[in-house]
Amino acid sequence: MTQKLATTVPSQVRAVSGRPAEVSTPMEVWQGLSAAVIDRIADNWNATTEKYRAGRREHYFSAEFLEGRALLNNLTNLGMVAEAEEAVGAFGQKLSDVLEQEPDAALGNGGLGRLAACFLDSCATLDLPVQGYGILYRYGLFKQLFNDGFQTEHPDSWMEEGYPFVIRREEAQRIVRYNDLTVRAVPYDMPITGYGTKNVNTLRLWKAESMEEFDYDAFNSQRFTDAIVERERTADISRVLYPNDTTYEGKVLRVRQQYFFCSASLQEIVDDYVAEHGSDLRAFDDFNSIQLNDTHPVLAIPELMRILMDEHGLGWDDAWKVVTRTFAYTNHTVLAEALETWDISIFERLFPRIMEIVWEIDRRFREDLAARGVEQGTIDYIAPVSDGKVHMAWIACYASYSINGVAALHTDILKRDTLKDWYAIWPERFNNKTNGVTPRRWLRQCNPRLSALLDEVTGSDAWVKDLSLLERYADAADDAVLDKLAEVKHANKVDFAAWILDREGIEIDPDAIFDVQIKRLHEYKRQLLNAIYILDLYFRMKEDPNLEVPSRVFVFGAKAAPGYIRAKAVIKLINAIADLVNNDPVVSKTLKVVFVHNYNVSPAEHIIPAADVSEQISMAGKEASGTSNMKFMMNGALTLGTLDGANVEILDAVGDDNAYIFGATEDELPALRESYDPRAAYETVPGLRRVLDALTDGTLDDNGSGWFADLRRSLLEASYEPADVYYVLGDFESYRETKDRMAADYADQRAWQRKAWANITASGRFSSDRTISDYAKVWNLQPEPVA
Ligand SMILES: *Cc1c(COP(=O)(O)O)cnc(C)c1O
Repeated sequence: MTQKLATTVPSQVRAVSGRPAEVSTPMEVWQGLSAAVIDRIADNWNATTEKYRAGRREHYFSAEFLEGRALLNNLTNLGMVAEAEEAVGAFGQKLSDVLEQEPDAALGNGGLGRLAACFLDSCATLDLPVQGYGILYRYGLFKQLFNDGFQTEHPDSWMEEGYPFVIRREEAQRIVRYNDLTVRAVPYDMPITGYGTKNVNTLRLWKAESMEEFDYDAFNSQRFTDAIVERERTADISRVLYPNDTTYEGKVLRVRQQYFFCSASLQEIVDDYVAEHGSDLRAFDDFNSIQLNDTHPVLAIPELMRILMDEHGLGWDDAWKVVTRTFAYTNHTVLAEALETWDISIFERLFPRIMEIVWEIDRRFREDLAARGVEQGTIDYIAPVSDGKVHMAWIACYASYSINGVAALHTDILKRDTLKDWYAIWPERFNNKTNGVTPRRWLRQCNPRLSALLDEVTGSDAWVKDLSLLERYADAADDAVLDKLAEVKHANKVDFAAWILDREGIEIDPDAIFDVQIKRLHEYKRQLLNAIYILDLYFRMKEDPNLEVPSRVFVFGAKAAPGYIRAKAVIKLINAIADLVNNDPVVSKTLKVVFVHNYNVSPAEHIIPAADVSEQISMAGKEASGTSNMKFMMNGALTLGTLDGANVEILDAVGDDNAYIFGATEDELPALRESYDPRAAYETVPGLRRVLDALTDGTLDDNGSGWFADLRRSLLEASYEPADVYYVLGDFESYRETKDRMAADYADQRAWQRKAWANITASGRFSSDRTISDYAKVWNLQPEPVA
């Protein structure tokens, strides 16, 4: 019999804090309530694991899972939010305060890691036998602070105070062997609940520990450092997400990490297979398939070859047959820097046997392609090993039964460009899986007001499990519904303004247009274009005090990779513009600029429900899909975007009247670039000269770093790269015209709400449930509901 939280929470809190719940801290209440949730799901979690054992299973390998907070997500999925409110209310605590105690599990950088997290939520909700595998990083993505407007990075020790949502499974540990080191991989399991189902899936995260807890001999013989050196070398493997890999030793560590979780996971999957189906591994792929989230887990391919051949006696041909029916590969980017390669010497140093297998894959590949009549030049270019490097994407393409891009346009570019030689040989392997986001976290959980309105309009919460149901209500927006929609958005904006004041110390007007760009800082995403617009608008207002400008708040959130100076310069620039605008006695009455520090999943949950405008302004052809665009759409923000990634499909879903599209398209850009002269734009486009000169004439202060001068040069002067690689100045006029028009349109609130409603009701195809249903066909996977 399930016990009520009102009964279990006080005793769980007491067990954590050693004092009555009434005098426990919100942090202790968070711990206790979380333990009560684990207690509630324990039986179903175990039943789900048992249920999946015998049938066909999918394994999702990813170096990143950007889960964010777990407690509210679980309460939402289990339908326990009200019960939890009541339980903690009974001893005088507020659930919202308790929830804010939780650290984000930021085991990912951005879109790719958050996608993995959304996928797990959908797999559980759809009762699909899918398990995630990754690394339990002790430090997640760095914590970002601003110092004089400069980004500073600080360690994110998210588990330090204890984290109830991962459970150590001592008994399931494995041993991972490198040439120079042998380590234990100890799994920590995170329960993945689904919405309105008993199924509880698992995310298994591996932690590296030394074979012996401590080298007592070394310690006793006074060699204290020796005793800890090996322990630290081992702990390094799961210490940080994306260790700095600019040095050779950094690269070695990255490869070590990748092999670590691939090897441990495969050992377990193979052992499970043997336990369940016997020792003939030739039918392994009847029961198992593995999705590779980008190239980080591609070492799983030679590692499975090694296990099948060296540990289970299969010959090469049988092993290769199994491998090529097991793996499927998702490509996430067309940017060259993300197509991973590693020096052969790293593989030789860490695992000579794996390198030997990679050489054999390479040899057979060359033979295979020559026999198919492929040109030698092409073979050399796409061979698994060339120029002293191992090419992870090429191994993935050769060994995978399925290769997918993450939006229709992106998949087209892969076929036409990035992977065209592969497409020419194996067209049948290619397919598109447009990304999606889970409507549980990104609507039900983060926007309770809009959720209540959707329940009311549709008559139930069925839309939470089938977001496409909302389409039927596209025309249901009469004045009464639109009034309520306006109230919802306004109330969210009031909440957000209070959150910003508390967090960033900036006062903003809830009646202003909230115009938001939140995503990793990268030149291709063009936060710089947005910054240039704001600075230009500032100058326009200074020049003409009577200019009619709708009141606006420009919100940014973004982390820059620690070594990416140009991206850090853009952060500094936006903070400098914020200083200029927010401190101008006249302009600040109309405009505010807020850079939310430490952007992460939980800030996103505060920001997105309050947004009016969703900035999706990458240079066309560069953003593989984007997923924040989908989260905004679900919450009724209108897209201001280029025809890039999934924006193309968003436009298709909502129609021209309900999105604001600007800029050069992907197929126009090559011709435009031929004759592109950013200098000419600087000379002739009204306002551009003033803005770009402000970077260096003392209007804005970069504290002597020289960074603003570099930004200006990057736009205007060709040096080791062409000027303005991302076509910022080329798209500026079109962006300004569209953004000005959009802001003016906001005045007609009724028309705006109609557009917002069109976006919400058309967002069904961007649910990750749709994406996962599509993947399930590729995986040949059926739901297995726990009775
Ligand atoms: C959704 C999400 C992203 C991806 O944003 P894009 O705009 O698609 O790049 C990155 N970080 C966090 C925290 C997210 O929630």
